[in-house]
Amino acid sequence: MSGIIGIIAKEPVDVASSIYYGLFALQHRGQESCGIAVNDDGVFRTFRDNGLVNDVFTPERLSDLGLGNMALGHVRYGAEGRNNRTYAQPLVINHIKGNMAVAHDGKLTNSQELREELELCGSIFHTTSDAEVISYIVTKERLVTNSIEDAVNNAMNKLKGAYSMCIMSPSKIVAVRDINGFHSMCYGEREDGTYIVASESCALSAVGATFIRDLEPGEIVVFSKEGVRSITDHCNKVKKSMCVFEYVYFARPDSVADGCSVHEARARAGAFLAQENKVDADIVIGVPDSGLDAAIGYARESGIPYGIGFLKNKYIGRTFIAPGQAAREDKVRIKLNVISSVVKGKRVVMIDDSIVRGTTCKKIVKLLRDAGAAEVHVRVTAPPFIAPCHYGTDIDDKEALIACNYTHDEICEIIGADTLGFLTMEHVLQIAQGEKCTGFCVGCFNEQYPTEVPKTKYKNKFTEKISEKK
Ligand code: AMP
Repeated sequence: MSGIIGIIAKEPVDVASSIYYGLFALQHRGQESCGIAVNDDGVFRTFRDNGLVNDVFTPERLSDLGLGNMALGHVRYGAEGRNNRTYAQPLVINHIKGNMAVAHDGKLTNSQELREELELCGSIFHTTSDAEVISYIVTKERLVTNSIEDAVNNAMNKLKGAYSMCIMSPSKIVAVRDINGFHSMCYGEREDGTYIVASESCALSAVGATFIRDLEPGEIVVFSKEGVRSITDHCNKVKKSMCVFEYVYFARPDSVADGCSVHEARARAGAFLAQENKVDADIVIGVPDSGLDAAIGYARESGIPYGIGFLKNKYIGRTFIAPGQAAREDKVRIKLNVISSVVKGKRVVMIDDSIVRGTTCKKIVKLLRDAGAAEVHVRVTAPPFIAPCHYGTDIDDKEALIACNYTHDEICEIIGADTLGFLTMEHVLQIAQGEKCTGFCVGCFNEQYPTEVPKTKYKNKFTEKISEKK
């Protein structure tokens, strides 16, 4: 999972600072690495590194990027190539017809095949990332087409799976959403005619742009000095299957994705939980951040008062949000503290967004018990995870998923709750409502994927060599 932002201004300005603020708003989508590429009349200046936006981009580094009329930015969640700065994006490629920068969010399902095909033709890869595969495919197409958008249009015949991406050429920014529309992508405009395209609408607000619209699944939107042009050759080819987990966990609650407010979707999930899983209790609390909106929905629907049960430390640096099991376990206590007076002696309904491996929830329930909660009833705004995600959400293999290894009652006992309730499949499909909320991917909850999925995980000598280096 990643966050992307692109900007195209009428004239050379400090585009790097706008990208910086946009990336800051998208930080929740990836904390492993970040990067900015500025386009100064066809000359690309880039800085990419591991770390949070705030740490990587010092005022000096931002000013070194200089002025430009276009820029791309990327934040990356490190599902693979953790701690390896070679994986940081945007990638910048020089080819015989010019140069381009690529920022990608999602996961291709056929990257292994594409990569092997390319390697057999002599391509050399530095990483196992999809962004590199995409760069090669688009570059190859660029050599036989007259424009970057035609190259991207052709490349889409080859790319399968999840890819929301932005490609910057010397004179254009080309934004793309895959045919299934797995992840969100939208654009907006500032009063001065600057266009911004981003993974989530919260990034548009952060840079003072007014939301115009979401990209349609399969759509290519080209931004240039001539204005905005849409290419729809790949639209309406398959049924839409937006990742429902964007609404449950990934997106920021102040974002609106495909016409549905993420806050409203979460509140609705909470209300559904209250209908499905009634319990006598004194207070409803949410696990920050993604459980809070749902807790409000649960409280409204059930009539049980809403309370603020946890204080979240807002100043946690990269050490505590680095992905990986060890970090996940250590961070809980530092990240969350219970407000004892709210829960002491009370029967508490605790709303969490999801249980993946079960370790986090167990620790949070214990925090409540230690603070004197009389009962803890855990309600989860997603169904149990029973299958890996092939589209970019870092959901592990089955062995690591608690719901694959234990029954409902066993999970309740393991996490130390009095009762446990998950959102049903029927209801998770209804949390995002609106004209454009027409189809969702719920593969991680029912193992039915909307596309073909890879039969084996990509791992060869090359991958192993990279991980040895870390
Ligand atoms: P656990 O059950 O210990 O694996 O942790 C579940 C918690 O991790 C959830 O409540 C979310 O806050 C968070 N989470 C869920 N899915 C992901 C993911 N794909 N990547 C990172 N964090 C996640």
